[in-house]
Amino acid sequence: SEGIASHRRRERLWVTKNLRDMAEMVVGLITRLSRNVSLDRSSNSKVDVQLLRLRGAVEHDDLATMRTEILSAVETIGIALKERDERQRSEMEAISRQLEALKNELTHTRKEMALDGLTRLYNRASLDEHMDSVASIAVLSGRAACLLMIDIDHFKKVNDTWGHQAGDAVLRAVADMLVKSFPRKSDFVGRYGGEEFAVVLGEDGAATAHMLSERLLERIHGMALAWEDTEIRVTVSIGIAPFHEDGSVKDWIERADKALYQAKSEGRDRIIEAALPGQQQTDSASCLCSAGIPR
Ligand code: GH3
Ligand code: MG
Ligand code: MG
Repeated sequence: SEGIASHRRRERLWVTKNLRDMAEMVVGLITRLSRNVSLDRSSNSKVDVQLLRLRGAVEHDDLATMRTEILSAVETIGIALKERDERQRSEMEAISRQLEALKNELTHTRKEMALDGLTRLYNRASLDEHMDSVASIAVLSGRAACLLMIDIDHFKKVNDTWGHQAGDAVLRAVADMLVKSFPRKSDFVGRYGGEEFAVVLGEDGAATAHMLSERLLERIHGMALAWEDTEIRVTVSIGIAPFHEDGSVKDWIERADKALYQAKSEGRDRIIEAALPGQQQTDSASCLCSAGIPR
């Protein structure tokens, strides 16, 4: 949609700008380092000249001249070395400050690239990556994992009635509620796209997923976004799919999607659990599903 396209454009602009800034920092560092090397080379040649003079001075017959030559050479060498030390110390400090800034910039960019700009939730790319790793761990450990697909009901109406800005505010409010409702370290909350979110429970099965989903539905019921002189209320539908080690991640997402679709077609504002892989998604496959709280 237009919203997502312009958001992606903003995201891309942000990254491009930051990459350009970083490229400039790297060029600055390289310039600095190479100037340092050539300065060292010139101070080395100054020292070399003085060493030659020293060697020459030793061959003088005249002790007094020899003494003067040696003293002056030693002094020049001393100054050159001291200058070089000082320059190197301050250059090293400047360089390490720049390296530190570069490192922070890289860390920041990497974090930004993992996040969705509007909601500050993890974006789709992070979600895909996270699901792959949760699936691998679940297969290895035999521990449960569960995917929740959460879609705002009739969200298009919010945009149509109050405008796109209101829609964005609702998305942010729902996102905040998701973060509050799934705060554990093993919970992963992401924006799947548009007005659809995904939560990955890294260590829980269907029972916990149902409990947390019921609580989320209730909290969303209690939410009212103040907008101009009115309040915007929304509901969500949730499709739950426990991880199944015989299936792929793609299949895992598909099962959650199908359950979500069923929740929509049965009236929205409810929770449906996915059928096991290979089974048809039927009414009987959904157990414990919320009847939907009367509004
Ligand atoms: P359903 O209950 O079946 O899910 O209906 P719906 O209206 O929520 O679903 P539909 O897919 O018809 O419409 C989703 C709308 O979400 C359409 C799209 O313009 C809007 N949308 C997607 N991303 C954004 C966004 O970032 N900001 C805003 N304001 N709207 C968005
Ligand atoms: Mg929707
Ligand atoms: Mg949708």
